Amino acid sequence: MSRRTLPLNDTLYDYLLSVSLPEPEVLRQLRAETARHPRAEMQIAPEQGQFMALLARLMGARRALEIGVFTGYSALWVALALPPDGELIACDLNEEYTAVARRYWEAAGVADRITLRLGPARDTLEALLAEGAAGTFDLAFIDADKESYEHYYERTLHLVRPGGLILLDNLLMRGRVVDPTNRAPAVEAIRQLNEKLHRDPRVDYVLLPVGDGLGLARRR
Ligand code: SAM
Ligand code: CA
Repeated sequence: MSRRTLPLNDTLYDYLLSVSLPEPEVLRQLRAETARHPRAEMQIAPEQGQFMALLARLMGARRALEIGVFTGYSALWVALALPPDGELIACDLNEEYTAVARRYWEAAGVADRITLRLGPARDTLEALLAEGAAGTFDLAFIDADKESYEHYYERTLHLVRPGGLILLDNLLMRGRVVDPTNRAPAVEAIRQLNEKLHRDPRVDYVLLPVGDGLGLARRR
């Protein structure tokens, strides 16, 4: 019996996907289109999307927030897990990337559940707080510029309700967090945030080896 997470080779990974939740056709098509995009590596893995959708369903999430949309793959998993009157506020600043997202959200029949707010996410989060949205979100996913993660986390902690969940992507930075010679600002920012998160008394916290390291912080 293994007491640590099993490393996955390609064969085992393909097997895992084959016996996990089937990916809806619209998500499969979006993933195929995104795979041809020059920044394809920015998209989350399919099993992470499944996991996020399951979390949303477990929580009975009605209102979700996403910071960093790209072509809309993670947003679509979550939106499909919301009830028909649920809402996902999706923040990004790139019109070209999110034009792809809008197309697939339409095709999936969930465009009316998703509000895309284009602009720097810092501004959108301030606007949401000013609009009185504090404590109204069940679930949030942080997956944009790494240098701003701590800021996004702090603002999002106000936006989710007590018991609400904040997911943070790429907390292992493809292993770069443990390379002491790597002083890149994004890597340093995530290192500092990792130190903070696991000691933060405001949340229950776990960092899982899902995708590139997924943090789950439940607001107490
Ligand atoms: N969650 C997406 C998925 O799984 O497909 C991937 C998101 S991608 C890693 C990061 C996104 O953050 C990009 O689409 C980028 O345009 C956006 N972004 C970067 N800096 C931003 C900022 N300051 N405000 C809002 N969005 C930003
Ligand atoms: Ca990511």
